[in-house]
Amino acid sequence: MGNTFRLLQHVITALLVLRLINRARRVGIVGLVKESFSSFVASALTLPGVGGAVQAQIKKEMEKIEQKILGDGDEHALLALPANRSTPSQVIETIRALKEKENFSSGKKWAGIYHDVTGTNELEELQSEVWSMYNNSNSLYPEVFPSLRKFEAEIVQMYINLLHGDSKTLVNNVPNRAVGLLTSGGTESILLAVLAYREWATSKGIDKPSVICSRAAHGALDKACHYFGVTLIKLEVDRTSLQLTPALVGPHLSDNTIAVYCSAPSFPHGVVDDVEGLARLCKARGVGLHVDNCLGGVYLSFLKQANIFKRKFDFELDGVTTISIDVHKYAFSPKGASVVCFASTELRKRTLCAVTDGLTLYVTPTMQGSRSGAVIAAAWATLVYHGQQGYREAFAQLWAIHERVQNEVRSIEGLKLLTPTGSDAAVVAIGSDRFDIFALATRMEEKGWNVFTSMDPDCVGLCYGQQHLLVIDQWLADLRECAAYLCLHPSTKAGGDAAVYGAAKALPRAILTDVLRSYIDVKMTVKEKPKH
Ligand SMILES: *Cc1c(COP(=O)(O)O)cnc(C)c1O
Repeated sequence: MGNTFRLLQHVITALLVLRLINRARRVGIVGLVKESFSSFVASALTLPGVGGAVQAQIKKEMEKIEQKILGDGDEHALLALPANRSTPSQVIETIRALKEKENFSSGKKWAGIYHDVTGTNELEELQSEVWSMYNNSNSLYPEVFPSLRKFEAEIVQMYINLLHGDSKTLVNNVPNRAVGLLTSGGTESILLAVLAYREWATSKGIDKPSVICSRAAHGALDKACHYFGVTLIKLEVDRTSLQLTPALVGPHLSDNTIAVYCSAPSFPHGVVDDVEGLARLCKARGVGLHVDNCLGGVYLSFLKQANIFKRKFDFELDGVTTISIDVHKYAFSPKGASVVCFASTELRKRTLCAVTDGLTLYVTPTMQGSRSGAVIAAAWATLVYHGQQGYREAFAQLWAIHERVQNEVRSIEGLKLLTPTGSDAAVVAIGSDRFDIFALATRMEEKGWNVFTSMDPDCVGLCYGQQHLLVIDQWLADLRECAAYLCLHPSTKAGGDAAVYGAAKALPRAILTDVLRSYIDVKMTVKEKPKH
């Protein structure tokens, strides 16, 4: 009986997969198979013959991606260390030629850099000067570079203060204040938070730890759980508010839950989850609550102080136990700086690996060992350069962009804000009931903008920074024009980069995983241009 059933299942699976392959042959592997087929396909990949055909399709898709990234190859590709030395001016010339082609400072391309990128402003000059002062330095040696120790500790302290972590309450006669670490980025901050919870869970005897989040969670959380052996439970966000709420999380809490992760705000939607509600729930149930404020940075705190954003989201709430907050996003420092805060020293201690049985004693604050002081000094300089006053002014300008874009979107036929009341900070998420929003992304790409899209609900997200102060008029004009075109031609299909998301929606996860992993293989390839 069992065997017959299994056989039948395999036959059905094989038929489904063959159908997939046939359709894929005609129209590419995209857009064909519903998510629900994915488990069938995954098991079918192991069937003789079938798996090979699917692999062949994946290979074909990868060749397209490879062509896009690597083209016909690089006539100056370096496959080994050059035999001879170069003069500094030769090296600079080579780099300059490559960098000029990037044309990044036009303001049309978004690369997750939130401060002005025109390269001729005061902040940029300050950062470059400080960077060069610490170009050769190592924060692993605080006794040699005491200035770096001071900068590192002070950056963290400034953030603790910003996030209401300087509590006045006494616990066992000791002030209960939050502590933190300076990391290399939001990803490392989230990794360390998850590590702290896992270690805490292990000490309590939980051997199958799990974390609960929404599908809007940043991929860094998946990474953290992947690295540290934690099960990740992903819930759908609330359909209207796009938030993770206590009502959604409650039923999924179990004895294995070590923490809940929420966003302030989320990257795809710019929505701050119901942190107040989640904090109450987590406190009552004795589990940790991580607030991912990587994107919010100093910006969300400013909006709160200005009473534009009205909800609590940081250590003002009792149940919040860790917060990740990037310095290199909305605090405008060069890349490589983020802070992870812990509600207590005990929690932070769980992340530390103290080596006591080697030939030397060794402990470092984060996952890194040797670390350039340039990142740290430039981050400190950036915070001090702005001060509260500078950030207030900078964020007032950014919020004006946010409001302007939301108001315009409300007035453009065919477009809608994804959340009726608008998003909270950093990202304006735009959808449509009239046409495929990915087709809008395609048309915007054709006009030279790179556009963020996400699925379920399908949307285009504008993540804005200071560069948009210069180009937002043009962006809105183009948005208006594209929307008008699509209202007249609503069956227009997505293409280019935007089509990838439409395609991804239809692909089984097993295949998608393979494609994404292979993408890194392509990205890490040095391809020579064949000489004629
Ligand atoms: C950027 C971001 C991260 C990860 O930060 P990196 O600095 O890119 O490592 C995590 N969460 C959110 C919401 C983000 O926007």
